[in-house]
Amino acid sequence: MRILVTGGAGFIGSHLIDRLMTEGHEVICLDNFFTGHKRNILKWLGNPYFELIRHDITEPIRLEADQVYHLACPASPVHYQYNPVKTIKTNVMGTLNMLGLAKRVKARFLLASTSEVYGDPEVHPQSEEYRGNVNPIGIRSCYDEGKRVAETLAFDYHRQNNVDIRVARIFNTYGPRMLENDGRVVSNLVVQALQGIPLTIYGTGSQTRSFCYVSDLVDGLMRLMNGDYIGPVNLGNPDEYTILELAQTVQAMVNPDAELVYKPLPQDDPQRRKPDITRAKTLLNWSPSVPLRQGLEWTIQDFRDRLEKADTTENSQTTLMSVAQA
Ligand code: NAD
Ligand code: UDP
Repeated sequence: MRILVTGGAGFIGSHLIDRLMTEGHEVICLDNFFTGHKRNILKWLGNPYFELIRHDITEPIRLEADQVYHLACPASPVHYQYNPVKTIKTNVMGTLNMLGLAKRVKARFLLASTSEVYGDPEVHPQSEEYRGNVNPIGIRSCYDEGKRVAETLAFDYHRQNNVDIRVARIFNTYGPRMLENDGRVVSNLVVQALQGIPLTIYGTGSQTRSFCYVSDLVDGLMRLMNGDYIGPVNLGNPDEYTILELAQTVQAMVNPDAELVYKPLPQDDPQRRKPDITRAKTLLNWSPSVPLRQGLEWTIQDFRDRLEKADTTENSQTTLMSVAQA
């Protein structure tokens, strides 16, 4: 099949592309490189079955594909709040453009939605029937409400134009290739522990999240895309941890001497989050298999390698500069 992956140079998108390419598909990766990077898909450049297109999805584009995985959108609060109007445009105009493309070429379309559609949930764990508790005017709304509109657009294109849609509500996902400056909790804590600087806990650390390793998530996305159920379906790991527990785990695994520091809790930060994955289990025969400690080990190793490489490059650049200056 020819498969279009928007946001394919990003964290989840690049892992998905690895799976699709390995399975022998033709892949088009569309990305504007806002939070994605060419190094994530470097190994496929030059492969005749892989195409990379630098494009911003807020602008229309004509392409042909059998399936569209629509992932383009910054996912970390730090990045989606950097230019909130652009985040809304990406979710609304971008999703509209990609649904228009899917409609024109009769492609199956999967939307990467989010647990953020549940906002600061009053129901726990969150099942797909829960309609959420989102602040429409807060600093997270550009993302939360943007994704809610994206879901609405997907269902309206389905009802009105027969577009074959799939909607995944993704819960916190982590793993190799997250940006060092991503700003999300797993990458922050791991990078801080490796650098020997204090681990930042926002608020008291009693808020909870459920962390899914990226290979499990990609498996869920592909099962949803290739099954009959249109969704929405929660994809996430139901093992729930407080942020303090996560920080202590990272501390114990990387640097037991690292200090923990407490910072103010950001506005509208959800207190509890845990997916009810009954639908994914029964309809997709999916459940995550990588336990947190194992996933963290692989993630820590990836960050360690990258930070060491950056150090070496910096050192050799310094050496080169000193040589040049001498
Ligand atoms: P990411 O930031 O690593 O990837 C997003 C990619 O989209 C990047 O490569 C970025 O450059 C690209 N992009 C952003 N705006 C674009 C635009 N206007 N045009 C073209 N490309 C654009 O994030 P991720 O963690 O890989 O998330 C991928 C998708 O999954 C997002 O839609 C996100 O909302 C969703 N999601 C992720 C998580 C998670 O925990 N990682 C949780 C819920 C939902
Ligand atoms: N968080 C934290 N320290 C950090 C970064 C985040 O304590 O260095 C907290 C954040 O306030 C939130 C949780 O960790 O309660 C998860 O944050 P993240 O940005 O990873 O994802 P989201 O809030 O979107 O679930």
